[in-house]
Amino acid sequence: MRILLVEDEVAIANFISEGLQEEGFSVDVAHNGKVGLNLAQDTSSEYDLILLDWMLPGLSGVEICRAIRNENKEVPIIFLTAKDTVDDVVFGLGSGANDYLRKPFAFDELLARIRVLLRNANDIDHIYSVGDIMMDVMSHRVTKAGEEIKLTQKEFALLEWLLSEKGKICRRTSIIEKIWDIHFDRDTGVIDVYINFLRKKLDTPGQTSFVETIRGIGYRVNEV
Ligand code: CA
Repeated sequence: MRILLVEDEVAIANFISEGLQEEGFSVDVAHNGKVGLNLAQDTSSEYDLILLDWMLPGLSGVEICRAIRNENKEVPIIFLTAKDTVDDVVFGLGSGANDYLRKPFAFDELLARIRVLLRNANDIDHIYSVGDIMMDVMSHRVTKAGEEIKLTQKEFALLEWLLSEKGKICRRTSIIEKIWDIHFDRDTGVIDVYINFLRKKLDTPGQTSFVETIRGIGYRVNEV
């Protein structure tokens, strides 16, 4: 994971950058707004997250944030700033930042917020997998051992729900609520039919099914 830190106070920049590197991130630091924006716009350095100070020489954090969003870049951005009125927070988030941390902050809090944003950003990709089954929700693609498997809309929606709840039991009633619309007559027998369709397409013959039947309750996809 690669992080860009734009912070003009060298001591703070070093403190954050060293801490993040200890946590296994690679960190690029800019002490000037213009340099920071250039780095953010450089396509050879695709950042997973950007930390922006607000008051900076060259360009302000808000100007950098707007410029990045104007390019439709979805990279998560956190403001680090001493500005702390409600208006400042609203203005900062309104410029396109995902989160906001008031100085001085505990490093552990910064780390926790970074992890949340990175996790959410990865959720946006909606890539799920179990065993040799891979599902890419955004490109609407399912593969088994690299081979594309064609699913109907209902099969796809059911598989997405099961995989997104991996490790947990999907109750029959919640499957009906999530996958079939509210006008459906709630006969949950239809779920078994669709589970069988999915098993026929995705199971490896002779091996345990990718989805376990929890008798009388529902289904569960287990970690492999
Ligand atoms: Ca500053």
